[in-house]
Amino acid sequence: MNFIVSAAARGAKGGGDVVVSRADAVINWVRKHSVWPFPMGLSCCAIELMGSGGSRFDISRFGMEVMRFSPRQSDCMVIAGTITYKMAETVRRLYDQMPEPKWVVAMGACASSGGMFRTYSVLQGADQIVPVDVYISGCPPKPEALLDGMMRLQERIGRERSRRALFEGRDAETPPVAAAAA
Ligand code: SF4
Repeated sequence: MNFIVSAAARGAKGGGDVVVSRADAVINWVRKHSVWPFPMGLSCCAIELMGSGGSRFDISRFGMEVMRFSPRQSDCMVIAGTITYKMAETVRRLYDQMPEPKWVVAMGACASSGGMFRTYSVLQGADQIVPVDVYISGCPPKPEALLDGMMRLQERIGRERSRRALFEGRDAETPPVAAAAA
């Protein structure tokens, strides 16, 4: 079931402009243009993540420049780097401290699959501890690849059934997407 949202412009006697839309479309539009990333920088990919905030790549073009170093003020965990078993529990705990709705981006080969580190000490993919929404390939992926992944996350947020999730919990059926390395 869809909700109809309408708003009348104030000041005009006898009516004014009216906007009619679905509740999902309005909620998703607001959410996808105000993603606050939580930079989970674990190793070298974090440098590329930092680069995306510079003037050359300018992640603020997508409304994502408000990176927060507190999980309680963030809604998108960007895992950039190798997840060792020693860190895995901490990553999961920080994810649990983020408020809903929240998303996860696995940036780079290590975060996505363990990368080249087939060793006893490295987790073979972030999806073993948190639900990943977007995978970004590359070692390391360039900032352009991160931006491409974030745009795919925006598309994904745009497809969510947010109104239903408000009442029944997050729609867990939307499959994750893979972004190509730039
Ligand atoms: S994918 Fe490559 S650049 Fe990124 S953390 Fe792993 S080894 Fe480092």
